Amino acid sequence: MSRAFNFCAGPAMLPEAVLKQAQSEMLDWRGTGMSVMEMSHRSDEFVEIAETAEKDLRELAGISDDYAVLFMQGGASSQFSSIPLNLLGEKTSADYVNTGIWSKKAIAEAKRYGNVNVVASAEDSGFASIPDQSAWTTSADAAYLHYTPNETIGGLEFDFVPESGSVPLVADLSSTILSRPLDVSKFGLIYAGAQKNIGPSGLVVVIIRKDLLGKARKETPTMMNYQVIADNDSMYNTPATYSWYLAGLVFQWLKEQGGVQAMAELNSRKAKKLYDFIDGSDFYANPIAARFRSWMNIPFTLADDGLNGAFLKGADARGLLNLKGHRSVGGMRASIYNAMPEAGVDALIQYMAEFAKERG
Ligand SMILES: *Cc1c(COP(=O)(O)O)cnc(C)c1O
Repeated sequence: MSRAFNFCAGPAMLPEAVLKQAQSEMLDWRGTGMSVMEMSHRSDEFVEIAETAEKDLRELAGISDDYAVLFMQGGASSQFSSIPLNLLGEKTSADYVNTGIWSKKAIAEAKRYGNVNVVASAEDSGFASIPDQSAWTTSADAAYLHYTPNETIGGLEFDFVPESGSVPLVADLSSTILSRPLDVSKFGLIYAGAQKNIGPSGLVVVIIRKDLLGKARKETPTMMNYQVIADNDSMYNTPATYSWYLAGLVFQWLKEQGGVQAMAELNSRKAKKLYDFIDGSDFYANPIAARFRSWMNIPFTLADDGLNGAFLKGADARGLLNLKGHRSVGGMRASIYNAMPEAGVDALIQYMAEFAKERG
């Protein structure tokens, strides 16, 4: 059996050590005679798995007791509705920054519940650059300020955390959580779908400052009410137990790698190598302003779109999978999350160089 280098944007590669551990524990988790999948979520065993995962995540990300950590379901997209339902409270409007497709989806959903002020947009730059915060039209009356630190599809990433004063800052960290250190105390709420840097799809991790709990509108579905989920330790209903367990294994793996600081060094090196190669080539191009280039998702085009098919075919043959860009952007995209080894990036660069030499 050989494992490919999978550049999929999500569900993405998981660390091989984690998959092997899950495999070895599949039929019998530590002498219980059961798979984690078959355990009661109320059992001592599963409660320990769940609590350990939360503890490890708190340690890795530096999450203080001022925050609740929720393991919810419905992916990051369900949070596009949960956030306005829970956080608008008495206020009538929220501020949103538009940096690409994921922010637009969050904006569209929030508009169903209140007034959305798009306080800044990357649209004028063709989503290649982020407007300086001095030009944003934020309001001190907003219920919260929402932004997408890393646009997974466009490959546009903030290199700063916006200042939001007393307005809670809300971030969709789906594709960049745990890829480098982050000062959680600057945020009111962080959410992340699991399938990029955490574990299997469906699970979504929500980190919320406790003073923001308890403001949900009365029509908020119980399953989306952060207070209810927090009061029940994310077990108001049956949680996504197996995904939660796998997330826990990923957190342990991250700790063994040296935590988010070690990940940051590795990720910045991986990204720099690939961007340097693209910039040094006259066959490949990436459109994003250098300072806002994503460390995790690197879109690139070939000088001739007519060669895209051949490029992908040759990549597949070498076990370099899922490099096709999102349908809305075209070209290619290499997603290189925490679990993508540096050797995967090296193999990609080598293939790109050979392809350009032969076909360019
Ligand atoms: C993948 C992704 C989403 C959507 O996640 P789902 O779990 O599929 O709902 C939302 N935001 C960002 C930034 C993403 O990368």
